[in-house]
This record gives sequence, C-alpha cells and structure tokens, in this order.
Amino acid sequence: MPTAPHTKTKSATPRAKPPVAGKTLDDLFLHGIQDIYYAEKKLTKALPKMIKAAQSPDLKEALEKHLGETEEHVTKVEQVFAILDRAPKAVKCAAIDGIVEEAEEILKDFAKTQSGDAAIIFSGQAAEHYEITRYGSLRAFAEVLGMEDAAEILQSILDQEKAADTKLSELADERINFAAEGRDDAPEATDVDNGNVSWGSKH
Ligand code: FE
Ligand code: ZN
Ligand code: FE
Repeated sequence: MPTAPHTKTKSATPRAKPPVAGKTLDDLFLHGIQDIYYAEKKLTKALPKMIKAAQSPDLKEALEKHLGETEEHVTKVEQVFAILDRAPKAVKCAAIDGIVEEAEEILKDFAKTQSGDAAIIFSGQAAEHYEITRYGSLRAFAEVLGMEDAAEILQSILDQEKAADTKLSELADERINFAAEGRDDAPEATDVDNGNVSWGSKH
C-alpha cells in the first residue's frame, strides 16, 4: 500500500553503531589499575590530615589502621602491575581528586567542631565507596581476562575497603552522630544493629 506523501512512516529502531575498534577490556583494565594506583597514593596523603583532625580515639584508631592498609594497597596494586608486566604508573583521576578536594574543604569548615568527626566520616566514606566501586569492577575485569592472581589481589583489597567502610558506619551509628547532635543517649555499641541507625537526627 503506498503511503501518502509527507506522511512519516514509523521507522524501525535505529541500529546501534558498531563499536570503534581499538580499545579492549585489557586497555580499560590497565587504565583502571593506573587510576586506582593514583587514588591509593593520594589517599596515603589525605588520611594523615583526617587522623590529625579526628577527636574520637576510636575514629583516630580506625583511620590509622586504614592508613596502614592503604599503604599495603599501593604495594598490592604494584603486584598487579607486575602481573601485567608493566611498570607502575599513576594516571590522574579526576574522581578521587574531587573527593579529596571536597574532603579538605569540609575539614577546613568542620574540623575540631562538635560535628568534626561526623564530617570526617562523611568524607571518608565517599572515598571508600569510590574505591569499592573501582575494585569491584577491576576484580570482575581480571576474572573475565583470565587473570586469577590479579583477581585475588583485587578481591583482598576490596574486602579491606568494605571493612573500613563498615567500621566508619559503626562508629557513626554508635556515638559520633549522636555526639555531633550534642546528645548523650547514644546506644551502647552492642545495641547497634549496623545499618539500622539512621544518619538523620531523630527529634
Ligand atoms: Fe585503598
Ligand atoms: Zn578516575
Ligand atoms: Fe580505602
């Protein structure tokens, strides 16, 4: 049946353009490793400032522990470079630069105030979540690329990032958010079902 002139016929779903050849998952994996290497090194410099500003001994201790782990992460990422037969190289990561820049601004505004520790956790968890997303992707890439040893190393780092994030949540839920609110009715550590205490103040 002929269609009337000027009547647009419903076109079929346009076909996706075929991908441009050239960049492989290996390339993306290498980029990701260089990116997270930059991030880990940057965090070894950012964490001491948070440690210095932290008021709660528990928070200080948790951050110190994670600084030690972060230094280990640098070494472990270097092991992944060795598996790739590449010299370790850091590629500037705009994402972690932004997270650290924001953390420094927040620290300037809030450090040593009653909400200083809550502010440190607020920023610290942004960094941990960034690392968690990257290590999750990189571990998955390593598996697909058949690099079992690299996948194992990346998983071990991922586990520590998740533990660090959980620890920060626990500290916030147990005491620090309550202290920031000037409240002394914080639940005992044992009463906290992690994840169920909300960040918001409950007036
Ligand atoms: Fe790390
Ligand atoms: Zn990046
Ligand atoms: Fe971390």
